[in-house]
Amino acid sequence: MYDAERTKYLERNGFEATRLKAVLFDMDGVLFDSMPNHARSWAQVCTEFGLTMTPDEAYLHEGRTGAATINLLARREWGRDATPEEIARIYDEKCRLFNACPEAPRMPGAADVLRRVKDAGLTIVVVTGSGQRSLIDRLEHNYPGFFHRSLMVTSFDVRHGKPDPEPYLLGLERAGVQPWEALVVENAPLGVEAGAAAKVFTVAVNTGPIPPEVLTRSGADLVLPSMAALADTWGDIYSTFA
Ligand code: CA
Repeated sequence: MYDAERTKYLERNGFEATRLKAVLFDMDGVLFDSMPNHARSWAQVCTEFGLTMTPDEAYLHEGRTGAATINLLARREWGRDATPEEIARIYDEKCRLFNACPEAPRMPGAADVLRRVKDAGLTIVVVTGSGQRSLIDRLEHNYPGFFHRSLMVTSFDVRHGKPDPEPYLLGLERAGVQPWEALVVENAPLGVEAGAAAKVFTVAVNTGPIPPEVLTRSGADLVLPSMAALADTWGDIYSTFA
């Protein structure tokens, strides 16, 4: 069913065939419906520090490190780089606001996707720009039995965050697979760019307010409207890429 998408992917990357062994999942906006909290806390901290970011803009920056996001806004609105002190103050406050938000619920459909991927015998990897130390506990609590500490890439593990391919390249390495043996599941333009730059077939699940064309332009090989849609179509995806 996805033969056309697979052929395009193989041609673009110069690969011969796919042989699915692992699925690399982004976390925020894919496994957890956490983006409304991020978007709200970014909008609020910007207002407090004399910068502006609408909640919708926050979705476009999703996946960028906090420091890079703050610097981008400072250049745009102050006409200069933010100092390390400013970055630390703003980012600390953003984290404080985010942590005060109610805990993000599981993304609808995500548990079904994980179940199907696991039942197919594939390796599950989490590749997130997040740097919360309690990450694995939270994953284990919400999705018991699917994740392993050694199969996670967080902001502590990489020098360059998304859209650099480094996080996904490290995810492939941890799973012990090649790019044509994996899929990336992402929701944000910068994350999609990172997956495509790592030469992995990248499925964008559009769980936020972004027009789907933006995800296609960022390099998504396939755009689906939700994790529930990915669960529904998993059989076709698996039979195409296995
Ligand atoms: Ca995300």
